[in-house]
Amino acid sequence: MFVKKLWWNTQSKTYDIMRKSIMLIAAAMFAGTFALQAAKPKVIAHRGYWNTEGASQNSIRSLVKADSIGCYASEFDVWMTPDNVIFVNHDPTINGVEIQRTPAAEVRKQKLSNGENIPTLEEYLKTAQGLKTRLVLELKTHDSRAREKEAVKKTVEMVKKFGLEDRTDYIVFSKDAFKQYVKAAAKGAKVYFLNGDYVPCQIKFAKGAGIDYSLRVMKKHPEWIKECHDKGLEVNVWTVNEPEDMKWCIEHGVDYITTNEPERLQQMLK
Ligand code: MG
Repeated sequence: MFVKKLWWNTQSKTYDIMRKSIMLIAAAMFAGTFALQAAKPKVIAHRGYWNTEGASQNSIRSLVKADSIGCYASEFDVWMTPDNVIFVNHDPTINGVEIQRTPAAEVRKQKLSNGENIPTLEEYLKTAQGLKTRLVLELKTHDSRAREKEAVKKTVEMVKKFGLEDRTDYIVFSKDAFKQYVKAAAKGAKVYFLNGDYVPCQIKFAKGAGIDYSLRVMKKHPEWIKECHDKGLEVNVWTVNEPEDMKWCIEHGVDYITTNEPERLQQMLK
């Protein structure tokens, strides 16, 4: 009887240890999977998804294409004419016409390489209303602080007019415009700094949402990723096109990757 009881107790303890071990392993696997999923960066199409048929950089088509492949967001650049019309374009000039110094009617005639007319911000936002992708609006650094201030005001007003406040983030190189967006943008809007020369505590102090720095800067300062996260800030990296660089960003736990190759990045994240 005693031997039988001893045998039973031993079996029961072994079973208990095994059961606890299995539960611990399962919990660790679940936590690991969750951490992996939580750490996945989101894909932002740089100047829209332009590296595809029929699109060109910052075209309406590139915005629609970014949305069609399920990009988290689509980035684009804006400039303001002397008569206060905002156009979507990366360079300060289009076909030799300088946007900051040319009336809107003249700028408007200019064609992109895919045949579209250069889009106004108004047209861009109108299209975005029917899409799901978020917008990352980059205001380019203008000639004067006064013009830049006006451009901040105009862009924020227009985003509000189209009801896109909850879907639009702002990015800038200019320190002035960064501070102005933090003040002017709707409550909860995210403003990121691009220039690479503010450390995380300066971004926190200025009430920015985080950093949006080049891959070159981030590889020089990978410690900023953790510093940002510890301070509740986010990290976006541009412009990440090569698989080994995408891998670096994923392994370092950045929050967003801005790329000219969104489909390549999406495949890698699968
Ligand atoms: Mg840009």
